[in-house]
Amino acid sequence: MIYLDNAATTPVHPDVLKAMLPYLDKQYGNPSGIYEFAEKSKAAIDEVRKIIAGSINAKPEEIYFTSGGTESDNWALIGMAEALKDKGRHIITTAIEHHAVINTCEYLKQRGYDVTYLDVDNEGIINLKNLRDSIRKDTILISIMCANNEVGSIQPIKSIGEIAHRNNICFHTDAVQAYLHTQIDVKKMNIDMMSASSHKFRGAKGCGFLYIRDGIKPAVFMHGGKQESGVRAGTENVHGIVGMGEAVKIGLKNMSKNIVYTRNMRDYLWYRIEHEIPNVMLNGSRYDRLPGNLNVSFLGIEGQSLLVMLDMDGICTSSGSACTAGLGGGSHVLKALGASGDRLKGALRMTLDVQNTMEEMDYVVWRIKENVATLRDNI
Ligand code: PLP
Repeated sequence: MIYLDNAATTPVHPDVLKAMLPYLDKQYGNPSGIYEFAEKSKAAIDEVRKIIAGSINAKPEEIYFTSGGTESDNWALIGMAEALKDKGRHIITTAIEHHAVINTCEYLKQRGYDVTYLDVDNEGIINLKNLRDSIRKDTILISIMCANNEVGSIQPIKSIGEIAHRNNICFHTDAVQAYLHTQIDVKKMNIDMMSASSHKFRGAKGCGFLYIRDGIKPAVFMHGGKQESGVRAGTENVHGIVGMGEAVKIGLKNMSKNIVYTRNMRDYLWYRIEHEIPNVMLNGSRYDRLPGNLNVSFLGIEGQSLLVMLDMDGICTSSGSACTAGLGGGSHVLKALGASGDRLKGALRMTLDVQNTMEEMDYVVWRIKENVATLRDNI
């Protein structure tokens, strides 16, 4: 199998698995316990808090463990909307957010909040003037993703944060795709809240975190026990958190070299597709995108049909994000970039990681070439 869907999820790193296993059988104490055995679990997750904080220039007490990106996004948006409802009810986001943000905004709209969805240019980047112009007296939150999951476009986060802070507005970013794939410094980049998810960087599924800057106080989202300083109840996913800590250590140590390796392989894949297959279009920016992301439209065919044929060749790809696959109607992200018709229908996303090789890329190009020709011949 050749796995080119790393934006959907990544395999757990062997060292992450090794770090997690003792917390499932031998070291199973509940971190809330007050005997030594349980305190070891508490110490383990607090160590991870320090590791994550160090990776983004935050303080350990600013890191809150969650069940992943979706929960972190929901908490950031609903929590701030609830906390600041007397100050205002206007939220600014973009048209290309993940559904964890978009559908949360739609939920808030039904409860009387007003949401502005900023447009993006044909490379998937927002316009800062549009952002400034959309700020109102009652704007309480700006939520703009760091990097897009479908086309990999990277937003000017530092400038967005500056604009938010100049207007005294809280700035949340969904960094689920960006964390450990690009450098993030929450202080330098003016980020107040940041979502991340462990399974996107070689950790386990069902685990993530929300960075909440000291002084920012979203309403409690999960009610119950006193875990996570009393603001996110529920027995901690200790093995998941320990694994996430290990994944962060590994990801951080190798980030620079991984970026270069993945980007070179992605550029090689695109070069060959562009030069050897007629009528293809790159979706998103040529240079300013996540290193492993390639999103290509093969004009005249259905991306979904190509995906199925590649699957029969043992190659895993995506025709949208994992969460929109099967929904039909075409990707909201590609539409926001201005794609329609053949370009929208013929899109295929390939997301690479360090486990992939150049030899795999050669096989992938060969299979895409043959399958695209077959599909086009059959029209
Ligand atoms: N935000 C973005 C940008 C994503 O790509 C994803 C998952 O694909 C999520 C949020 C949701 O994360 P999770 O799968 O951890 O709930």
